[in-house]
Amino acid sequence: MIDFQKLAQIISANQSFLITTHVNPDADAIGSEIAFSNMLKLIGKDFSIINHSETPYNLRFLDTENVIEKYNPEHHNRYFDSTDVLVALDFNRADRIVSMQKSFTTANKIKVCIDHHQDPEDFVDFQFIDYDYAATGHILYDFITSTGIIKLNKEIAAPIYAAIMTDTGSFRFERTTAELHRIIANLLDTGINPTEIYNQLYDESKLSKIKLLGKCLSSLELIDENKIGYMIITQNDFIELNAIESDTENFVNFILSVQDVRLGMLFIELKNGFKVSFRSKGKLPVNKLAGLFGGGGHQNASGARFRESKMSDMIPKILGEAEKFINNYSKG
Ligand code: 5GP
Ligand code: MN
Repeated sequence: MIDFQKLAQIISANQSFLITTHVNPDADAIGSEIAFSNMLKLIGKDFSIINHSETPYNLRFLDTENVIEKYNPEHHNRYFDSTDVLVALDFNRADRIVSMQKSFTTANKIKVCIDHHQDPEDFVDFQFIDYDYAATGHILYDFITSTGIIKLNKEIAAPIYAAIMTDTGSFRFERTTAELHRIIANLLDTGINPTEIYNQLYDESKLSKIKLLGKCLSSLELIDENKIGYMIITQNDFIELNAIESDTENFVNFILSVQDVRLGMLFIELKNGFKVSFRSKGKLPVNKLAGLFGGGGHQNASGARFRESKMSDMIPKILGEAEKFINNYSKG
């Protein structure tokens, strides 16, 4: 159980808040930042939102007042000294904020983390973490409604809706419960338009993204009696199609739509190193597999980043570990 009263106390006892989220932010990350900051604004608090990554183009509609800033050490480091509280949303390990890690961890300020991922690192003073939540936005909904700190309005309901909708894979993943749908109904009661939000998120793609999806899907291979599927996107693919890393969001889920596949992996070559997205069906805890490589996440959706090594050298090793992992789990 999250101690919402404690969070309310911290908010009421302080005036200024620096909000941040993880690298390559998704709609839960950005939506939670916007919902949280709109809430602070309503109760007369000061805030800034500073992220390592630029907001992906399909999420900019959530930032209606254009308040999110991309981290620039020269400009922003003084914020870490002049703000009362640092708020980490939708991540629980300091390395997830990459270039901001040092300023965040060394700042002598009150630090809170609001998140729903497993295996939190001890990098803040107050953790408001519960894995049972479908999204960080879902936690914020419960916080707002259980404390009555503000009344829900459209400006807060819309980003929370986007957060929950995307983190549940449009209401199909495990944490999609009757209770969650009741929450969604309450959000819709504020007058937000789900069709519009869905369209902004998923139906405003650039052609380059869809071409990249085509290329990615055509790389799909199955191994280990079709239990494991994987796809590869190289830097060449990005360059050739003029696509970007955030275009790859959700691609990995297509692997799980193949019959018999229980574990899907998407290898994405970055400018420096590469990342792997892991997805699973049922009770296979891919966060444990990602953990072997310093990554983490949820039971059915995890990731890991490799900053130094070369993707083509590492893929056979990771596939080998994945086979061992899935076969150990099938036995146990
Ligand atoms: P994605 O594959 O969509 O990038 O990430 C899936 C899940 O894994 C997300 O919930 C995300 O928080 C987590 N995740 C992704 N990359 C990393 C990583 O490098 N380290 C950790 N600890 N978690 C990650
Ligand atoms: Mn999330």
